[in-house]
Amino acid sequence: MHSLKPGFSAIANLNQVTEPAQTFDTKAIQALDTAHYLHPFTDFKDLNQKGARVMVKGDGIYIWDSEGKKILDAMSGLWCVNVGYGRNSISAAVYQQMETLPFYNSFFNTTNVPAAQLAAKLVEISPPQFSHVFFTSSGSEGNDTNLRMVRRYWDLLGYKDRHVIISRHNAYHGSTVAGASLGGMRAMHAQAGLPIPGIEHIGQPNYLESGRGMTEAEFGIKAASWLEDKILETGPEKVAAFIGEPIQGAGGVVIPPATYWPEIQRICDKYGILLIADEVICGFGRLGTWFGSERMGIRPDLMTFAKGVTSGYIPLGGVMVSDRVADILIEKGGDFNHGFTYSGHPVACAAALENIRILEQEKLIGQVANQTGPYLQQAFAQLASHPLVGFANSCGLVAGLNLVRQKAELQHDCVLFGTEQNVGMICRGYMFSQGIIMRAVGDRMIIAPPLCISVMQIDEMTGLIRSALDQTLEDLQARGWV
Ligand SMILES: *Cc1c(COP(=O)(O)O)cnc(C)c1O
Repeated sequence: MHSLKPGFSAIANLNQVTEPAQTFDTKAIQALDTAHYLHPFTDFKDLNQKGARVMVKGDGIYIWDSEGKKILDAMSGLWCVNVGYGRNSISAAVYQQMETLPFYNSFFNTTNVPAAQLAAKLVEISPPQFSHVFFTSSGSEGNDTNLRMVRRYWDLLGYKDRHVIISRHNAYHGSTVAGASLGGMRAMHAQAGLPIPGIEHIGQPNYLESGRGMTEAEFGIKAASWLEDKILETGPEKVAAFIGEPIQGAGGVVIPPATYWPEIQRICDKYGILLIADEVICGFGRLGTWFGSERMGIRPDLMTFAKGVTSGYIPLGGVMVSDRVADILIEKGGDFNHGFTYSGHPVACAAALENIRILEQEKLIGQVANQTGPYLQQAFAQLASHPLVGFANSCGLVAGLNLVRQKAELQHDCVLFGTEQNVGMICRGYMFSQGIIMRAVGDRMIIAPPLCISVMQIDEMTGLIRSALDQTLEDLQARGWV
């Protein structure tokens, strides 16, 4: 017995978790959590003082915490629960696969039934240039795979110097060493001596940040031209690939001007550079198309996916590999010295197959394109009339609004709050007390609700957002900040 370890005495209380009454000893769980669990992307000291919120149940677009509070999860967990919580058919598919064959690897010329079926299904739903997939267990591992695979591709073609990958500042591509290096998060780079060599970053297509004095369309072309500048500076013969999220998610739902991606595609084509779309958020219907690339009008050579592929029920990720790349890997032969124990995990693949079946059967992607996406856009346009909201925008079922101290006709003329005032975090607190999860990226409040959200539920959601904005405004007035 580890009776000397702090928090152990609380374990007894956890037995309550399995009892039908479903009451939870929040303090006891928090004590265990604080004593033993180092959370991702967390200030441990701060969390230990406050204690974590304990989530215990989900159904549809709602989750419940251990205090019985019902919360509208406008972030789909972490951008992933696309079909919503409580889907019994996914748990049934997972259970059945676990009973049949819980695990077998895909090394040494073996496979399993769900992995082969899912590979075929993914090819069916993805754009025509894709006939192959490489499986991982996460988006980060997917991007590690991209790095290895594009370098292998150019090596096999005899271009041994063609190893540089160009990405963007404020991009998020995961948290492994390669993922964080490909990403453009300064705070992540600062803590680990990243990025690793061979990765370059250009500016992001963030109109608010860099588009003053230009129309959005002009700015889109300008932001894409930074790629060409970087290619020429690096030497085109050294550049292997460009990677980008169709819409940056973690960076704050940065929706690029419509002119941006077609111009990026043109530049990649001009220099023969591989285009990698990181579809971890935009894939599986988020923008009203199976993949964000389709909505943005690009034709990537590789697409990273994770999150929505299983709606987060079980971890799964991977890379869709176009014929341009796969044909070379296959034709030239030789081992690709990369892969994971859980590549093609049968249980994860079974969950994905059922998740995709739900997306198809309930026509959720068409619903986002034709109904809920346009409806959310209107609803956010209305929120922009709130005195705290400088501007608001959306695409499919991602949306964001910017909190400003003083509104103006042009978004570049709005007067912003100071970063040290942490207004986004204050607002997030009111959102939570209203019963809605919204994420704050600086002073931009963002959402990515489950794709099963109905028009009525969007009304409910925007109602909660408006009340929380009112409370935030009152609070800021009391502080004398507005
Ligand atoms: C979440 C995310 C990742 C990382 O996925 P993990 O499963 O957390 O490793 C990579 N790229 C994008 C765009 C993401 O949003």
